[in-house]
Amino acid sequence: IIELKNITKQYEDLVVLDNLNLDIKKNEFLTLLGPSGCGKTTTLKIIAGFEHADEGEVMFEGENVNDTPPYERQVNTVFQKYALFPHMNVYENIAFGLKIKKMDKATIDVKVKEMLKLVALEGFEKRSIDSLSGGQQQRIAIARALVNEPKILLLDEPLGALDLKLRQEMQRELKKIQQKLGITFIFVTHDQEEALTMSDTIVVMNKGKIQQMGSPEDIYNEPKNSFVAKFIGESN
Ligand code: ATP
Repeated sequence: IIELKNITKQYEDLVVLDNLNLDIKKNEFLTLLGPSGCGKTTTLKIIAGFEHADEGEVMFEGENVNDTPPYERQVNTVFQKYALFPHMNVYENIAFGLKIKKMDKATIDVKVKEMLKLVALEGFEKRSIDSLSGGQQQRIAIARALVNEPKILLLDEPLGALDLKLRQEMQRELKKIQQKLGITFIFVTHDQEEALTMSDTIVVMNKGKIQQMGSPEDIYNEPKNSFVAKFIGESN
């Protein structure tokens, strides 16, 4: 569904992505895994259209989208920090993007309700954002990102701010949501365990290059080089 071809990105002297090639399949749960600074977030930004590559092509369903602005790509993003609108309630946060599209109120109501059910927060429409726990806020952020039915959801360390127990619960829920909706998730983490439990495919990155791409089993059982072996072997 998304293909990155020979993507290179540099910030001044620093080469952040070095001739990156990546083919992401439809309905896949793909995780970009690697140490801080290896270029994971930059890869997501290039897919979303927030950043442009210096060289290379971003293909979406076979078409070059290098010049397509973010809002015309069928991609939404969830960040680690919730980035909800604090002055709006839950309903208004989720409905925001649909109102911009001038969808009628009855349809918006149905969609918001469906999304709240999906993230297990039924009946939360009128709650204010600051009355929600961190985990609940992150669920609302996920609902908001999914409500306009993107084909691809980008998740940049979405569980990074949560404590361990909640994090594990949310890992299971995110996986369920992805399977239920059957859309492509591109997930960023520096946590090996998280990557191994959630992903169909893991892409291990270091210094702007792909070190290995494969199933969790492949990566765990047959690391291709010493970087992958060491990184997967380290605990957080
Ligand atoms: P983390 O897990 O810490 O978020 P990451 O793998 O997502 O790391 P990126 O955010 O993609 O890494 O950043 C890769 C490198 O590019 C880092 O060294 C970062 O400091 C640098 N970088 C990112 N954005 C910019 C920018 N706008 N200007 C200059 N340097 C940048």
